[in-house]
Amino acid sequence: MSIVAPKGRKHLSADALFRLVRSSFANITDARGEEVEIPLTDALMSAFAMFSLKSPSLLAFDKQRIEGNLETIYGIPRAPCDTRMRERLDPVSPESLRPSFTSVFRQLQRGKALEDMVFLDGHYLVALDGTGYFSSPTIHCASCLQKVHRNGSITYYHQMLGAALIHPDFREVIPLMPEPIIKQDGTEKNDCERNAAKRFIAKLRQDHPHLKFIITEDSLSSNAPHIETLHDHGCHYILGVKEGDHAYLFKQVQAAEEAGRVTSYDRHDRAAGVVHRFRFVNDMPLNESRSDVRVNFIEYWEVSPDKVQHFSWVTDFRVNKANVYKLMRGGRARWKIENETFNTLKNQGYNFDHNYGHGEQNLSVVLAVLMMLAFLVDQVPCFARCGRNLAANGCCGSACARCFSVMLSSRCDSCSKLCFTA
Ligand SMILES: [Zn+2]
Repeated sequence: MSIVAPKGRKHLSADALFRLVRSSFANITDARGEEVEIPLTDALMSAFAMFSLKSPSLLAFDKQRIEGNLETIYGIPRAPCDTRMRERLDPVSPESLRPSFTSVFRQLQRGKALEDMVFLDGHYLVALDGTGYFSSPTIHCASCLQKVHRNGSITYYHQMLGAALIHPDFREVIPLMPEPIIKQDGTEKNDCERNAAKRFIAKLRQDHPHLKFIITEDSLSSNAPHIETLHDHGCHYILGVKEGDHAYLFKQVQAAEEAGRVTSYDRHDRAAGVVHRFRFVNDMPLNESRSDVRVNFIEYWEVSPDKVQHFSWVTDFRVNKANVYKLMRGGRARWKIENETFNTLKNQGYNFDHNYGHGEQNLSVVLAVLMMLAFLVDQVPCFARCGRNLAANGCCGSACARCFSVMLSSRCDSCSKLCFTA
Protein backbone atom coordinates (compact mmCIF):
# COMPACT_ATOMS: atom_id res chain seq x y z
CA MET A 1 0.00 0.00 0.00
CA SER A 2 1.18 3.53 -0.66
CA ILE A 3 0.32 6.69 1.14
CA VAL A 4 -1.55 8.95 -1.27
CA ALA A 5 -1.31 12.64 -0.61
CA PRO A 6 -4.29 14.70 -1.73
CA LYS A 7 -3.69 17.10 -4.58
CA GLY A 8 -2.84 20.67 -3.78
CA ARG A 9 -0.25 20.13 -1.07
CA LYS A 10 2.08 22.58 -2.71
CA HIS A 11 4.34 22.85 0.32
CA LEU A 12 5.16 19.14 -0.08
CA SER A 13 6.28 19.50 -3.71
CA ALA A 14 9.95 19.00 -4.51
CA ASP A 15 10.40 22.72 -5.23
CA ALA A 16 9.02 23.67 -1.84
CA LEU A 17 11.03 21.01 0.02
CA PHE A 18 14.28 21.94 -1.70
CA ARG A 19 13.66 25.58 -0.72
CA LEU A 20 12.96 24.51 2.84
CA VAL A 21 16.19 22.49 3.03
CA ARG A 22 18.13 25.40 1.56
CA SER A 23 16.73 27.86 4.08
CA SER A 24 17.62 25.54 6.98
CA PHE A 25 21.18 25.29 5.62
CA ALA A 26 21.30 29.10 5.45
CA ASN A 27 20.92 29.23 9.25
CA ILE A 28 24.11 27.23 9.84
CA THR A 29 26.94 29.46 10.98
CA ASP A 30 29.90 29.44 8.61
CA ALA A 31 33.10 29.39 10.65
CA ARG A 32 34.95 30.90 7.70
CA GLY A 33 32.86 34.10 7.77
CA GLU A 34 31.41 35.83 4.73
CA GLU A 35 34.57 36.40 2.69
CA VAL A 36 34.50 33.03 0.95
CA GLU A 37 34.26 32.14 -2.69
CA ILE A 38 31.64 29.43 -2.17
CA PRO A 39 29.03 30.12 0.54
CA LEU A 40 28.51 27.22 2.95
CA THR A 41 24.81 27.04 1.99
CA ASP A 42 25.78 26.33 -1.63
CA ALA A 43 28.30 23.68 -0.61
CA LEU A 44 25.72 21.92 1.62
CA MET A 45 23.01 22.23 -1.02
CA SER A 46 25.37 20.80 -3.65
CA ALA A 47 26.08 17.72 -1.55
CA PHE A 48 22.34 17.35 -0.89
CA ALA A 49 21.70 17.63 -4.66
CA MET A 50 24.37 15.02 -5.36
CA PHE A 51 22.50 12.48 -3.21
CA SER A 52 19.10 13.65 -4.37
CA LEU A 53 20.24 12.98 -7.96
CA LYS A 54 21.83 9.70 -6.85
CA SER A 55 25.16 10.58 -8.43
CA PRO A 56 27.43 7.55 -8.11
CA SER A 57 30.47 9.70 -7.25
CA LEU A 58 31.57 13.26 -6.66
CA LEU A 59 33.20 13.11 -10.11
CA ALA A 60 29.91 12.15 -11.80
CA PHE A 61 28.21 14.96 -9.89
CA ASP A 62 30.91 17.32 -11.14
CA LYS A 63 29.78 16.52 -14.68
CA GLN A 64 26.17 17.37 -13.78
CA ARG A 65 27.46 20.53 -12.12
CA ILE A 66 29.19 21.65 -15.30
CA GLU A 67 26.18 20.80 -17.48
CA GLY A 68 23.98 23.15 -15.43
CA ASN A 69 20.44 22.51 -14.04
CA LEU A 70 21.46 22.89 -10.40
CA GLU A 71 20.44 26.53 -10.16
CA THR A 72 16.95 26.01 -11.57
CA ILE A 73 16.19 22.97 -9.45
CA TYR A 74 18.18 23.31 -6.26
CA GLY A 75 18.78 27.07 -6.24
CA ILE A 76 22.57 26.69 -6.35
CA PRO A 77 23.99 29.59 -8.36
CA ARG A 78 27.60 28.34 -8.21
CA ALA A 79 28.16 24.75 -7.24
CA PRO A 80 31.67 24.05 -5.94
CA CYS A 81 34.00 21.56 -7.61
CA ASP A 82 34.54 18.28 -5.77
CA THR A 83 37.70 19.35 -3.90
CA ARG A 84 36.13 22.62 -2.77
CA MET A 85 32.97 20.87 -1.60
CA ARG A 86 35.00 18.47 0.57
CA GLU A 87 36.98 21.38 2.08
CA ARG A 88 33.87 23.39 2.90
CA LEU A 89 31.95 20.49 4.44
CA ASP A 90 34.72 18.94 6.53
CA PRO A 91 34.45 21.36 9.52
CA VAL A 92 30.61 21.37 9.56
CA SER A 93 29.13 19.93 12.74
CA PRO A 94 26.80 17.01 11.83
CA GLU A 95 24.49 18.17 14.63
CA SER A 96 23.92 21.48 12.80
CA LEU A 97 21.95 19.50 10.19
CA ARG A 98 19.30 18.45 12.73
CA PRO A 99 16.97 21.45 12.04
CA SER A 100 16.81 20.41 8.36
CA PHE A 101 15.23 17.09 9.38
CA THR A 102 12.83 18.67 11.85
CA SER A 103 11.70 21.34 9.39
CA VAL A 104 10.87 18.74 6.69
CA PHE A 105 9.13 16.67 9.38
CA ARG A 106 7.07 19.70 10.50
CA GLN A 107 6.10 20.33 6.89
CA LEU A 108 4.83 16.74 6.66
CA GLN A 109 2.87 17.27 9.87
CA ARG A 110 1.45 20.53 8.57
CA GLY A 111 0.28 18.80 5.41
CA LYS A 112 -1.27 16.07 7.59
CA ALA A 113 0.78 13.61 5.56
CA LEU A 114 1.83 11.75 8.71
CA GLU A 115 -1.67 10.99 9.96
CA ASP A 116 -1.79 7.71 8.02
CA MET A 117 1.43 6.64 9.74
CA VAL A 118 -0.17 6.57 13.21
CA PHE A 119 0.18 2.97 14.35
CA LEU A 120 -1.60 2.46 17.68
CA ASP A 121 -3.70 4.80 19.85
CA GLY A 122 -2.13 7.95 18.42
CA HIS A 123 1.42 6.55 18.64
CA TYR A 124 3.98 6.51 15.85
CA LEU A 125 6.21 3.48 15.46
CA VAL A 126 9.94 4.32 15.26
CA ALA A 127 12.48 1.65 14.28
CA LEU A 128 16.10 2.05 15.41
CA ASP A 129 19.14 0.11 14.26
CA GLY A 130 22.87 0.58 13.86
CA THR A 131 24.62 0.21 10.52
CA GLY A 132 28.18 0.51 9.26
CA TYR A 133 28.98 2.49 6.12
CA PHE A 134 32.74 2.83 5.98
CA SER A 135 35.78 0.74 6.82
CA SER A 136 39.43 1.12 5.84
CA PRO A 137 42.88 0.05 7.01
CA THR A 138 44.38 3.41 6.00
CA ILE A 139 41.89 6.24 5.47
CA HIS A 140 40.73 7.80 8.73
CA CYS A 141 39.59 11.00 10.42
CA ALA A 142 39.17 12.45 13.91
CA SER A 143 35.72 10.88 14.34
CA CYS A 144 36.58 7.35 13.08
CA LEU A 145 36.06 4.40 15.40
CA GLN A 146 39.09 2.09 15.61
CA LYS A 147 39.59 -1.61 15.93
CA VAL A 148 43.14 -2.60 16.88
CA HIS A 149 43.97 -6.13 15.68
CA ARG A 150 46.27 -8.61 17.42
CA ASN A 151 49.09 -7.89 14.97
CA GLY A 152 48.88 -4.20 15.82
CA SER A 153 47.19 -3.14 12.59
CA ILE A 154 44.13 -0.88 12.84
CA THR A 155 40.80 -0.89 11.03
CA TYR A 156 39.08 2.49 10.92
CA TYR A 157 35.31 2.51 10.53
CA HIS A 158 32.11 4.54 10.74
CA GLN A 159 28.69 3.53 12.00
CA MET A 160 25.48 5.35 12.68
CA LEU A 161 22.26 4.66 14.50
CA GLY A 162 19.54 5.07 11.89
CA ALA A 163 15.94 5.80 12.82
CA ALA A 164 12.75 5.94 10.80
CA LEU A 165 9.05 6.32 11.36
CA ILE A 166 7.53 3.14 9.98
CA HIS A 167 4.13 1.50 9.63
CA PRO A 168 3.50 -2.18 8.86
CA ASP A 169 1.03 -1.27 6.08
CA PHE A 170 3.23 1.17 4.19
CA ARG A 171 6.47 0.72 2.33
CA GLU A 172 7.43 4.36 2.77
CA VAL A 173 9.54 5.16 5.80
CA ILE A 174 10.17 8.64 7.20
CA PRO A 175 13.85 8.82 8.25
CA LEU A 176 14.70 10.91 11.31
CA MET A 177 18.02 12.62 12.05
CA PRO A 178 20.42 9.67 12.58
CA GLU A 179 22.78 9.55 15.57
CA PRO A 180 26.38 9.15 14.42
CA ILE A 181 28.37 6.55 16.35
CA ILE A 182 31.67 8.42 16.46
CA LYS A 183 34.56 9.06 18.74
CA GLN A 184 33.24 11.58 21.29
CA ASP A 185 35.17 14.69 22.27
CA GLY A 186 37.59 14.24 25.12
CA THR A 187 37.66 10.44 25.08
CA GLU A 188 39.90 7.81 23.55
CA LYS A 189 37.27 5.12 23.92
CA ASN A 190 35.13 3.97 21.02
CA ASP A 191 31.51 5.08 21.02
CA CYS A 192 28.91 2.29 20.81
CA GLU A 193 25.38 1.71 19.62
CA ARG A 194 24.04 1.61 23.16
CA ASN A 195 25.41 5.09 24.00
CA ALA A 196 24.22 6.40 20.65
CA ALA A 197 20.71 5.08 21.40
CA LYS A 198 20.72 6.92 24.72
CA ARG A 199 21.66 10.19 23.02
CA PHE A 200 19.17 9.54 20.22
CA ILE A 201 16.18 9.04 22.53
CA ALA A 202 16.95 12.25 24.49
CA LYS A 203 17.23 14.27 21.26
CA LEU A 204 14.11 12.66 19.76
CA ARG A 205 12.16 13.84 22.79
CA GLN A 206 13.68 17.32 22.50
CA ASP A 207 12.82 17.55 18.78
CA HIS A 208 9.27 16.23 19.25
CA PRO A 209 8.19 16.93 22.83
CA HIS A 210 4.51 16.16 22.22
CA LEU A 211 4.56 13.19 19.86
CA LYS A 212 3.72 9.71 21.14
CA PHE A 213 6.28 7.10 20.14
CA ILE A 214 6.64 3.34 20.26
CA ILE A 215 10.28 2.36 19.73
CA THR A 216 10.99 -0.96 18.07
CA GLU A 217 14.49 -2.51 18.07
CA ASP A 218 16.29 -5.84 17.94
CA SER A 219 17.20 -7.99 20.93
CA LEU A 220 20.48 -6.14 21.62
CA SER A 221 18.35 -3.28 22.95
CA SER A 222 16.44 -5.42 25.47
CA ASN A 223 18.50 -4.44 28.49
CA ALA A 224 17.50 -2.70 31.71
CA PRO A 225 19.39 0.62 31.24
CA HIS A 226 17.91 1.12 27.75
CA ILE A 227 14.38 0.29 28.88
CA GLU A 228 14.84 2.86 31.67
CA THR A 229 16.00 5.46 29.13
CA LEU A 230 12.88 4.80 27.04
CA HIS A 231 10.70 5.06 30.13
CA ASP A 232 12.37 8.29 31.30
CA HIS A 233 11.63 9.93 27.95
CA GLY A 234 8.03 8.77 27.77
CA CYS A 235 8.53 6.27 24.93
CA HIS A 236 6.73 2.93 24.70
CA TYR A 237 8.60 -0.04 23.25
CA ILE A 238 8.37 -3.35 21.42
CA LEU A 239 11.84 -4.91 21.63
CA GLY A 240 13.08 -8.26 20.35
CA VAL A 241 14.26 -10.88 22.87
CA LYS A 242 16.14 -14.13 22.23
CA GLU A 243 16.20 -17.22 24.36
CA GLY A 244 20.01 -17.35 24.09
CA ASP A 245 20.43 -13.76 25.36
CA HIS A 246 17.49 -13.67 27.79
CA ALA A 247 17.60 -17.16 29.32
CA TYR A 248 16.28 -16.03 32.74
CA LEU A 249 13.21 -14.36 31.18
CA PHE A 250 12.38 -17.44 29.10
CA LYS A 251 12.76 -19.65 32.17
CA GLN A 252 10.36 -17.42 34.11
CA VAL A 253 7.87 -17.57 31.23
CA GLN A 254 8.11 -21.37 31.29
CA ALA A 255 7.43 -21.35 35.04
CA ALA A 256 4.44 -19.04 34.49
CA GLU A 257 3.18 -21.41 31.78
CA GLU A 258 3.37 -24.33 34.23
CA ALA A 259 1.49 -22.23 36.80
CA GLY A 260 -1.25 -21.59 34.23
CA ARG A 261 -0.55 -17.85 33.95
CA VAL A 262 0.30 -17.76 30.23
CA THR A 263 -2.38 -17.06 27.61
CA SER A 264 -2.32 -18.95 24.30
CA TYR A 265 -4.17 -17.56 21.34
CA ASP A 266 -4.49 -18.62 17.68
CA ARG A 267 -5.71 -16.38 14.91
CA HIS A 268 -6.48 -17.98 11.54
CA ASP A 269 -5.95 -16.11 8.31
CA ARG A 270 -7.68 -18.56 5.97
CA ALA A 271 -7.22 -16.40 2.85
CA ALA A 272 -3.45 -16.46 3.30
CA GLY A 273 -3.37 -20.05 4.63
CA VAL A 274 -1.56 -18.86 7.75
CA VAL A 275 -2.10 -19.44 11.46
CA HIS A 276 -0.82 -16.72 13.81
CA ARG A 277 -0.01 -18.51 17.07
CA PHE A 278 0.70 -16.52 20.22
CA ARG A 279 1.54 -17.08 23.83
CA PHE A 280 1.89 -14.09 26.12
CA VAL A 281 2.22 -13.21 29.77
CA ASN A 282 2.39 -9.83 31.54
CA ASP A 283 4.61 -8.59 34.33
CA MET A 284 7.77 -10.68 33.91
CA PRO A 285 11.28 -9.80 35.17
CA LEU A 286 13.61 -8.89 32.28
CA ASN A 287 16.63 -10.54 33.91
CA GLU A 288 17.86 -11.88 37.21
CA SER A 289 19.99 -8.94 38.31
CA ARG A 290 17.30 -6.36 37.52
CA SER A 291 14.11 -8.17 38.43
CA ASP A 292 12.62 -4.75 39.27
CA VAL A 293 12.43 -4.05 35.51
CA ARG A 294 9.12 -5.68 34.58
CA VAL A 295 8.14 -6.40 30.98
CA ASN A 296 5.24 -7.99 29.13
CA PHE A 297 6.29 -10.95 27.00
CA ILE A 298 4.98 -12.09 23.58
CA GLU A 299 6.05 -15.23 21.73
CA TYR A 300 4.75 -15.73 18.20
CA TRP A 301 4.78 -18.40 15.51
CA GLU A 302 3.62 -17.76 11.97
CA VAL A 303 2.59 -21.19 10.76
CA SER A 304 2.11 -21.63 7.01
CA PRO A 305 1.91 -24.95 5.12
CA ASP A 306 5.59 -24.94 4.16
CA LYS A 307 7.31 -23.14 7.03
CA VAL A 308 7.12 -21.85 10.59
CA GLN A 309 8.61 -18.51 11.58
CA HIS A 310 9.24 -17.72 15.22
CA PHE A 311 9.68 -14.35 17.01
CA SER A 312 9.55 -13.02 20.56
CA TRP A 313 9.35 -9.55 22.03
CA VAL A 314 8.95 -7.63 25.26
CA THR A 315 6.78 -4.55 25.50
CA ASP A 316 5.47 -2.13 28.11
CA PHE A 317 1.95 -2.35 26.64
CA ARG A 318 -0.16 -4.70 28.70
CA VAL A 319 -0.79 -7.56 26.30
CA ASN A 320 -4.24 -9.07 25.72
CA LYS A 321 -5.98 -11.01 22.96
CA ALA A 322 -7.30 -7.75 21.47
CA ASN A 323 -3.90 -6.08 20.96
CA VAL A 324 -1.40 -8.94 20.59
CA TYR A 325 -1.78 -9.21 16.80
CA LYS A 326 -1.18 -5.48 16.36
CA LEU A 327 1.83 -5.52 18.70
CA MET A 328 3.28 -8.45 16.72
CA ARG A 329 2.90 -6.48 13.50
CA GLY A 330 4.71 -3.54 15.09
CA GLY A 331 7.56 -5.79 16.23
CA ARG A 332 7.86 -7.44 12.83
CA ALA A 333 7.83 -4.10 11.00
CA ARG A 334 11.28 -3.43 12.51
CA TRP A 335 12.90 -5.05 9.45
CA LYS A 336 11.88 -1.92 7.50
CA ILE A 337 14.81 -0.03 9.02
CA GLU A 338 17.12 -2.61 7.43
CA ASN A 339 15.26 -3.34 4.21
CA GLU A 340 13.43 -0.16 3.31
CA THR A 341 16.04 2.21 4.75
CA PHE A 342 19.60 0.87 4.89
CA ASN A 343 19.27 -1.48 1.91
CA THR A 344 17.62 1.22 -0.19
CA LEU A 345 20.43 3.59 0.73
CA LYS A 346 23.08 0.98 -0.01
CA ASN A 347 21.66 -0.77 -3.07
CA GLN A 348 19.15 1.45 -4.80
CA GLY A 349 21.15 4.32 -6.10
CA TYR A 350 22.19 6.24 -3.00
CA ASN A 351 25.57 4.47 -2.59
CA PHE A 352 25.47 4.80 1.20
CA ASP A 353 28.62 2.74 1.76
CA HIS A 354 30.46 4.33 -1.14
CA ASN A 355 33.22 6.68 -0.13
CA TYR A 356 32.51 10.17 -1.47
CA GLY A 357 35.44 11.58 0.45
CA HIS A 358 36.50 11.19 4.06
CA GLY A 359 38.00 14.46 5.26
CA GLU A 360 39.98 15.00 8.44
CA GLN A 361 37.21 16.11 10.78
CA ASN A 362 33.53 15.51 9.98
CA LEU A 363 33.20 15.15 6.21
CA SER A 364 32.37 11.43 6.22
CA VAL A 365 29.64 11.89 8.85
CA VAL A 366 28.24 15.09 7.28
CA LEU A 367 27.88 13.35 3.90
CA ALA A 368 26.14 10.32 5.46
CA VAL A 369 23.67 12.61 7.28
CA LEU A 370 23.02 14.63 4.09
CA MET A 371 22.33 11.38 2.23
CA MET A 372 19.74 10.46 4.84
CA LEU A 373 18.19 13.93 4.43
CA ALA A 374 17.98 13.47 0.64
CA PHE A 375 16.32 10.10 1.25
CA LEU A 376 13.80 11.74 3.60
CA VAL A 377 12.85 14.34 0.99
CA ASP A 378 12.61 11.57 -1.60
CA GLN A 379 10.16 9.69 0.62
CA VAL A 380 7.67 12.52 0.86
CA PRO A 381 4.36 10.90 0.06
CA CYS A 382 3.35 13.07 -2.87
CA PHE A 383 5.35 10.70 -5.05
CA ALA A 384 2.53 8.19 -4.79
CA ARG A 385 0.43 10.36 -7.05
CA CYS A 386 3.36 11.23 -9.29
CA GLY A 387 4.44 7.60 -9.57
CA ARG A 388 1.22 6.82 -11.36
CA ASN A 389 1.64 9.76 -13.70
CA LEU A 390 5.14 8.62 -14.44
CA ALA A 391 4.06 5.13 -15.35
CA ALA A 392 1.35 6.43 -17.67
CA ASN A 393 2.92 9.51 -19.21
CA GLY A 394 6.66 9.38 -18.78
CA CYS A 395 7.38 12.12 -16.30
CA CYS A 396 4.93 14.47 -14.64
CA GLY A 397 7.48 17.27 -14.51
CA SER A 398 7.80 19.04 -11.26
CA ALA A 399 5.54 17.42 -8.72
CA CYS A 400 7.91 15.37 -6.60
CA ALA A 401 11.49 14.72 -5.70
CA ARG A 402 11.52 11.25 -7.23
CA CYS A 403 10.47 12.62 -10.60
CA PHE A 404 13.39 15.00 -10.48
CA SER A 405 15.67 12.07 -9.86
CA VAL A 406 14.26 10.25 -12.86
CA MET A 407 14.59 13.28 -15.09
CA LEU A 408 18.11 14.14 -14.12
CA SER A 409 19.83 11.15 -12.66
CA SER A 410 22.53 9.31 -14.50
CA ARG A 411 21.13 6.23 -12.73
CA CYS A 412 17.65 6.46 -14.28
CA ASP A 413 17.19 2.72 -14.51
CA SER A 414 17.53 2.00 -10.84
CA CYS A 415 15.50 4.92 -9.57
CA SER A 416 12.75 4.70 -12.16
CA LYS A 417 12.21 1.16 -10.91
CA LEU A 418 11.61 2.70 -7.49
CA CYS A 419 9.18 5.24 -8.88
CA PHE A 420 7.20 2.85 -11.01
CA THR A 421 6.55 0.40 -8.26
CA ALA A 422 5.43 3.11 -5.84
ZN1 LIG B 1 36.55 8.73 9.77
